[in-house]
Amino acid sequence: MSYTGRFAPSPTGPLHFGSLLAALASYLDAKHQQGRWLLRIENPDPLREQPGAADQICYTLDAFGLHWDGEVIYQNQRQDYYQHLLEQLIQQGLAYPCNCSRKQLKLRNALQHYDQHCLKHPPDKQAQTAIRARYTLNSPSFNDRILGIQRASNGTQGDFIIFRRDGLFAYQLAVVADDHDQKINQVVRGADLLRETFAQLQLQQHLGFTPPGYAHIPLATTANGQKLSKQNLAPPLDNSNPVSGLLQALRFLNQDIPPEPQSLTVESLLQWAISHWHINKVPVTQSIPIEA
Ligand code: GLU
Ligand code: ZN
Repeated sequence: MSYTGRFAPSPTGPLHFGSLLAALASYLDAKHQQGRWLLRIENPDPLREQPGAADQICYTLDAFGLHWDGEVIYQNQRQDYYQHLLEQLIQQGLAYPCNCSRKQLKLRNALQHYDQHCLKHPPDKQAQTAIRARYTLNSPSFNDRILGIQRASNGTQGDFIIFRRDGLFAYQLAVVADDHDQKINQVVRGADLLRETFAQLQLQQHLGFTPPGYAHIPLATTANGQKLSKQNLAPPLDNSNPVSGLLQALRFLNQDIPPEPQSLTVESLLQWAISHWHINKVPVTQSIPIEA
């Protein structure tokens, strides 16, 4: 079967080194296998979106030679599709309304693991409610292409939100819906999403979707272990010096570096990196601190 991969950034700000790692690793893995590499802008939440960030991301990917295949998909334009899946899940009894507030969940010690209160006591139909999907997987596992067999520790995951009380679709539903619709069969992304995979496997099972393969690359963190993000002022990528950014990312991913790399163009460096990509050289760990 031919390979289809993707990069799925949230447009909450410009791309930084951490995002470049996910973009580059997913790109190289796809292109090494003559695959397609798609770009999906994950903006189901308008309040978290930074104006202009999506265009800036596209510009930066182009500057770094990471040219995507096909049209860019924007999650804020796909409500009808998500709604259709949501209704299907509700009709099949695989999802149900929940109107518990954070405060109530906290009082009942059900923040981490939902206690199914609203499954047993369905809320008033008039009210604006969240929707939760049932989590019924029993000791699920998957074989991560980098980290190996991953098992869910029992009882950590309860029924989870797929539609928010404020009327927005949750990440879990949108990502599963779009990976399926775009025929993504290999997901390469940061290990901060490793635990999210179990909820995604559950939704795929509910919806009858074939799960993609998964590979989680180590997260670049600050010296004290925080994920690089806009909040801790990870600098935006320097669009004027893509070769050095790409080299830094290749080193982080423990890939071979070509001789005299600084004299290469972006295109020739990427061609070299595609043919020398070895996913089994990526460090088998969930996070690596870098100099901030
Ligand atoms: N949009 C998510 C993020 O930026 C990535 C989702 C995914 O790769 O599954 O963290
Ligand atoms: Zn509830």
